[in-house]
Amino acid sequence: MTYSLAGTRELSSQMIETNKFGLPQCIKERNECQQIGIVGAGAAGLYCGILLAQAGHTVRIYEASNRAGGRISTYRDPNNPSIYMSELGAMRLPLDTHSYLNTLIRERYKLNITPFANSNDNAYAYVNGIFGTMKELRENPIIFKFNMTKNEQGKTSQTLWLTAFQPILQTLEQGGWLAVKNQWDSYSIDSYLKSVNMSRDTINYINILRNYESGTYCSILEVFRAVLVYASGSKFYGIDGGNDLLIQAMITECQSIDSDRCSIMYSMPVIEVQLNDSNKVQLRTKNETIDIVDTLIVATTAPAANLIKFEKRIDFVDKYRALRQIHYMCSTKVLLNFNVSWWYTQENINGGQSLTDLHVHSIYYPYIRNNQTNGGTIIAAYNLGTSSLVWQSLFESDIIELVLQQLIRLHRSSSNMRDYFQGGKVQHWCGDPYAHGAFARFIPFQETELFHQLQTPVSKIHFIGEHTTLVHGWVEGAIISAVHGALSVTRQKETIFDVVIIGGNLIGLSTAIFLSLKQPNLRIVILEKNTINDYNNQLHIYSQEHFRQIFDKEYLVQLAKMSFTLWQQLEQMSNLSSESILNTNDGFLFLRNPNMIQSTIEDNWASMKRICENLDMNCEYLNNTQLRIRYPMFTLIREYEGIFHNQSGYINITTLMMSLLRLIDQSSNITIREHEELLSLQLLQDHVKLITNRGILHSSQKVILIPDSNVKNISRLFNFDLNMRVLKLPIYYFRRLPNFVRLPNGIVMNDQNQQENFSSFSIVSTSDYIIIKPTFIQNVSNFLIDSIYTETVLNWVSHHLNTLVNVSDYYIDNRTYLVRSLPDNKFVLDYVPRTNKRILMQVGENEITFVPVLADILSDMVLFDGMNTSSKYTKYFDIEFSNQTVAMNL
Ligand SMILES: Cc1cc2nc3c(=O)[nH]c(=O)nc-3n(C[C@H](O)[C@H](O)[C@H](O)COP(=O)(O)OP(=O)(O)OC[C@H]3O[C@@H](n4cnc5c(N)ncnc54)[C@H](O)[C@@H]3O)c2cc1C
Repeated sequence: MTYSLAGTRELSSQMIETNKFGLPQCIKERNECQQIGIVGAGAAGLYCGILLAQAGHTVRIYEASNRAGGRISTYRDPNNPSIYMSELGAMRLPLDTHSYLNTLIRERYKLNITPFANSNDNAYAYVNGIFGTMKELRENPIIFKFNMTKNEQGKTSQTLWLTAFQPILQTLEQGGWLAVKNQWDSYSIDSYLKSVNMSRDTINYINILRNYESGTYCSILEVFRAVLVYASGSKFYGIDGGNDLLIQAMITECQSIDSDRCSIMYSMPVIEVQLNDSNKVQLRTKNETIDIVDTLIVATTAPAANLIKFEKRIDFVDKYRALRQIHYMCSTKVLLNFNVSWWYTQENINGGQSLTDLHVHSIYYPYIRNNQTNGGTIIAAYNLGTSSLVWQSLFESDIIELVLQQLIRLHRSSSNMRDYFQGGKVQHWCGDPYAHGAFARFIPFQETELFHQLQTPVSKIHFIGEHTTLVHGWVEGAIISAVHGALSVTRQKETIFDVVIIGGNLIGLSTAIFLSLKQPNLRIVILEKNTINDYNNQLHIYSQEHFRQIFDKEYLVQLAKMSFTLWQQLEQMSNLSSESILNTNDGFLFLRNPNMIQSTIEDNWASMKRICENLDMNCEYLNNTQLRIRYPMFTLIREYEGIFHNQSGYINITTLMMSLLRLIDQSSNITIREHEELLSLQLLQDHVKLITNRGILHSSQKVILIPDSNVKNISRLFNFDLNMRVLKLPIYYFRRLPNFVRLPNGIVMNDQNQQENFSSFSIVSTSDYIIIKPTFIQNVSNFLIDSIYTETVLNWVSHHLNTLVNVSDYYIDNRTYLVRSLPDNKFVLDYVPRTNKRILMQVGENEITFVPVLADILSDMVLFDGMNTSSKYTKYFDIEFSNQTVAMNL
């Protein structure tokens, strides 16, 4: 079972390639090579420094302590550092799932690894006053007096645990990480386990077993990510000889880079950082060294960064807030050293872990090789959260004595261990003067509220480290952050793709999917200047959009028919049940008032009716009496007549987004790059070069522009002005009356003013309000400040919906939705002139109905340099950009 995690968009092919092959070289002559300072020589700072220095930049790493490695801290014999004893920080590395670290350890540095045993059946459990083995604790919790419900009894901890996570797993499978975050980020471990009806005793049991007891307020998503690592079946490893050998290898690599371009300065805590007027960064260390660099990378923990004085503070307000608020776990490890391996010789325990509700909590035994029984170091207490703080309140000598006593209590037949005891070592990570915490662990809402800010640079100051990723508490997180940081610092995102799609809207995402299905080897990238989700939320502000097959032009009806099939295919591809995305339960009703006929409206209506009949669409024409009978609660029908179509309805936008992102997640050839804006592009002989705010990319085949509201900026790149109107319109919410009934999805041609004025509505069944979405198309400017439009909406609602909603109880959403239109409601779907068919553009069409058809056509146009002659669409299109404005001859 392998799942890609939220951070997956971090795991773009570019990141993976950078990790393997490094960054592109900077070019001195073009002033690309920078002087870079890095604060902190942990795994993140060191690796980021190496990547940058190897690419030609000059890197100086400032480390506060007298050693590198930070939270990778191997404890060695103080008298003979070549003798490995144990790990005070990172100890187990799930390399089969942690691919970045795996590449580093196994391929880059070729370090020897040794298996790390997480469990051992012979190890002890002493919980609720009962002694047993770990096997018994895992498989038969009832022995330990956990009073489980009938339903839970007889199940192993693993079964209970995986069953509890089924709802999140299901969300992940259906909608990818975005959906998981949206749905579950508000839950703590405790509230989640309660919500899935786990009994209190089982929660207690699981918390002891999984070491969550002193952090049950943390976000369930942190635990879920750990579940995925453990459930993946990945084996755990340590580096043979100590995990600090990874750090040693990094130091050696850094120092071997030409011209001293990578240097590490020890005992140099950075205390102040200032952005100066010449756009450089000035830093000051505690020992009053002052340096000026082009770019600074802060690679400390969040609490350590929070202690640095960043100036001007006003520029760092959001950053400081995130650094202050992010939740860190505390952790204490107590190591006890023995000169005889009594756990092996007397207890038959080799590696693995014992567990107890005594204060030591977990005990990890070293692995004995080659029958060497002359002692070793036990991690005799491994505590997290508040239980670590209790250790911190005691004197070190008292801690060691107490831990020894508890160890003797647990190993009843090895009380002679005191005879072999050589000494102890205590490490409190919250008391560590350089880390100030063990590792980040979000509490509810922090993934939604803080995560983005933690990663965001402030001008030329970048932030990396384990806490800036979603892979918290693992070395992998530090490595991912280093690659990410190196890429964003250099803006050398120069990568070749076959197809570059500008615009992560629904059409952009769908086009990528169609392309990938039709040609799985294509390297496709989608660039989005916001985040994908923000973007689509803004355009489709509520979760439903109309899907209709009734139009006043025959080609639109034909296209809508094809869309209908494609929407259903999308549901199948995403393993969703039918009607999950395209719902036709309530059909679609088009209404108009025949007493207020304007000639254009009459034309539209008449042709809609004619097309329905000509194409045998099973439309129902409803005169006023029929409307009254069919919808007795609906005051709207007082004067109106309607056309009803039952193979129309609405698109569920939330499900659609989830399924598109999930399909993209599953396609290894599609990369999404967010917060990346196209600045300019150049047509070169055999490819298109695109310059973005974050770097340079090359498209070997086609660029597809789907700019929507950004259309003016994009069209200016080609020296033409697309005459597209973009309006921002508010949405009105009216409170339902108790007798409210479901309404069909529909559009009403209104008659209240002289403009072409539609109102549409859609029903969110869970809400107390219904949504009225007016669309005023013509001659409208300054809409938002023009109260006349609110008056128009109120007037319309009071005339037509007053038995269903409370007209005076309404509010206006502070968000707006966008309406885009080209003259005559046409749309562009064409190659941009003078680009040798290498650049395509799609703008204008605002109906969600056509999304899959447009994506299908765009993908054909990429692959066949035009419409495939056999394409089902050819007869509908005669594509042409005329006079650089807009034209699509249909
Ligand atoms: C108890 C514990 C157990 C863990 N277990 C595991 C495990 O089993 N497996 C696993 O993969 N991961 C584990 N981890 C997590 C892993 O150790 C970290 O995720 C990773 O080492 C973090 O690396 P980093 O570079 O982001 O930060 P760090 O290693 O913390 O590096 C930050 C560096 O910045 C320096 N610094 C701080 N302030 C300043 C300043 N003002 N100026 C200059 N330098 C400064 C610090 O001295 C430090 O060297 C564990 C961590 C802990 C604490």
